[in-house]
Amino acid sequence: MAGGQDWNIRGSFESRHCNDPIRSLVDHGKFKPNPDKELIRLNVGDPTFYKNLPPSPVVIQAVTDVLQAGKDNDYKRTPGMAEARVALAKKFSYPVNPVHEDHVIITSGCAQAVQFALTTLCDPGTNILIPKPGYSMYKVNAACRQLEARYYNLLPEKSWQVDIEHMESLIDDKTRCIILVNPSNPCGSVYSKEHLLEIVAVAEKHRLPILADEIYGGVVYGGAEFHPLASLTDRVPILTCSGIGKRYLVPGWRTGWLILHDNHGRLEDVRVCLNNLWARILGSCGPIQAALPRILSEVPDDFFENTNRHLEAASKLVYEKLSTVSCLTPVKPQGAMYMLFGIKVDQLDGIADDLQFAQELMSEESVFILPGYIFKYPNYLRIVLLAPETLISEAMDRIAAFCQRRMKVKQAEKDKRQWVVL
Ligand SMILES: *Cc1c(COP(=O)(O)O)cnc(C)c1O
Repeated sequence: MAGGQDWNIRGSFESRHCNDPIRSLVDHGKFKPNPDKELIRLNVGDPTFYKNLPPSPVVIQAVTDVLQAGKDNDYKRTPGMAEARVALAKKFSYPVNPVHEDHVIITSGCAQAVQFALTTLCDPGTNILIPKPGYSMYKVNAACRQLEARYYNLLPEKSWQVDIEHMESLIDDKTRCIILVNPSNPCGSVYSKEHLLEIVAVAEKHRLPILADEIYGGVVYGGAEFHPLASLTDRVPILTCSGIGKRYLVPGWRTGWLILHDNHGRLEDVRVCLNNLWARILGSCGPIQAALPRILSEVPDDFFENTNRHLEAASKLVYEKLSTVSCLTPVKPQGAMYMLFGIKVDQLDGIADDLQFAQELMSEESVFILPGYIFKYPNYLRIVLLAPETLISEAMDRIAAFCQRRMKVKQAEKDKRQWVVL
């Protein structure tokens, strides 16, 4: 180590500003579980973590067959393998918005689709509109490319609908796109057709494209319906970013896509520039691309229904349990793999904010959930609904017990009458 200073070799601006708040929180070492209690992790948005939701045998077989055939070890041409792009174009074509395969780019996960879209649309000094609460990846993308992140409010009392007026008020001549995450991480909200069209109207008025992050497309329950944004309208250009990671429960396969829904050719220059970007990465994983046509067409519906049933049951359990604790305000989700609940800090002894709540819950009850400030939403916390139900149930009992101990006396007395778990 000594002597290293003479060299003065430094990380770049871009790399320095690419720090994921979730990773820095976890790496910080401030989260230590109670050694006497089994750790329950409701913090990771990785559906493979507890092994209770395995991928479909169909996708395993599709990839196995590709590997055994040995034909797809080559570079896949720009901007992805033709058969896979054709399959994606077919699956994501809608009567109002048909897609040609030239408008499909296959990427390393939805994350790279988002990165490509933002790199192509935005120069340093421009701004993008991001939902609040919102997935931290967008903030990271903005920070490392010197874009200004402007946060539009989602309203918890309206099931996290967009505050349309607030969104519109943030737009100026340096705005390059509106980012929409539906179904939402971290909120678990799913937007109605009418609400999506309200957002489209704002984008159309200001001539802005929408980056639609639909990685949780189809992950809905409780009577909610998922409407792909591009299925509703061609009045604005839409860059749909998605992938197989979440819906097919294989995030480590790192395969996603960017689809330009652009009936009127407004994204033609963007399409050309997007294809240039490809020269930097020389393609995404070939064998998974080769398996994509089968993955997209052969997985039976009951596979997806099973995931959605699990999420629905888990969300009910969390909502019902947390609703009985007076200092907590859970918001009912209808999709994705998450939900948020608020904490009334004025009713809790010695808890200043969501971070302290999360840390002390971890050190006393060994339950790990993420504080809302990670999503730009203090005094809320996010619960991941993927763990087995028995663990989620146990975790909710522990959260309730934790709150019960911390609740200021008067409130705790009132609650005792309706509180049964203890
Ligand atoms: C997980 C997630 C992603 C990243 O998806 P990958 O396919 O794993 O890159 C993108 N957007 C949202 C909202 C997510 O939750």
